Amino acid sequence: MSETKPDPAPVAVVTGASSGIGAATAKVLAAQGFTVLLGARRADRLAQVAADIGGSARTAPLDVTDADSIEGFAAQAGETVEVLIANAGGALGADAVVDGDDNQWRTMWETNVLGVVRTVRAFLPKLLASGHGRVVVISSVAGHQVYPGGGGYTSAKHAAAAVIDTLRLELLGAPIRIIEIAPGAVRTEFALVRLGDQEKADAVYDGLTPLTADDVADAIGWAISRPPNVAVARIDLFPRNQASARDRHRE
Ligand code: NAP
Repeated sequence: MSETKPDPAPVAVVTGASSGIGAATAKVLAAQGFTVLLGARRADRLAQVAADIGGSARTAPLDVTDADSIEGFAAQAGETVEVLIANAGGALGADAVVDGDDNQWRTMWETNVLGVVRTVRAFLPKLLASGHGRVVVISSVAGHQVYPGGGGYTSAKHAAAAVIDTLRLELLGAPIRIIEIAPGAVRTEFALVRLGDQEKADAVYDGLTPLTADDVADAIGWAISRPPNVAVARIDLFPRNQASARDRHRE
């Protein structure tokens, strides 16, 4: 009697999986039955996330500001990928536009805009080959609204949001869904990376209960698991006491 092999688990790829939203999303996807491939620059942190997940979680080095690094990362994924979470990103500094540092702006644009574009390009053939692709880009409320001191980050995330909407138009009719997740304040390493100082980072959340990375991962898990005829175009996810990029009620 011939044995039928079970179908291999579908593959989900997460960029920026070494901390915060990416790490939490990797756990949700693994729990949904995906084999996860996780990328970021900090190999030790990635390895810890994979160890926490256990099983078949795999890691590979990734710097989304480097086209060759993205190609090398994509080559680790095999022929088909069902879900791509383009999450790697972040902010640097909080200067007014006139005082901004070109290098910080360049890094924000390279990471949040070109990083997403190149990642999607690299994985698109594999996503289409799955016949059931989902691309999730983590933009931000900063992709749709602006605030003083946020020019470098908001301009980059606005560009990312424009790319996401363009992809949805250009891929209309292809077996793929383009999903934008636009969170407000989430307590991760984001503010520490941005401000470079733990005290200043903690002050961002003074009097406010922000979202957790798990809250955002939960929304992502929901969005990618809708039936194939349902496309979640965008989720704006705020803490209860946040009403816009700049309006927060602090208790
Ligand atoms: P986080 O804890 O700082 O995580 C950022 C992740 O991105 C890390 O895994 C980091 O890994 C990775 N990353 C940064 N630059 C990278 C690069 N050049 N190549 C590869 N990976 C890179 O912050 P987070 O809040 O989870 O951020 C995740 C996403 O959510 C970002 O796109 C951020 O803009 C967005 N977001 C955050 C908030 C918030 O309030 N936290 C709100 C809205 C949107 P390595 O450093 O190890 O490379």
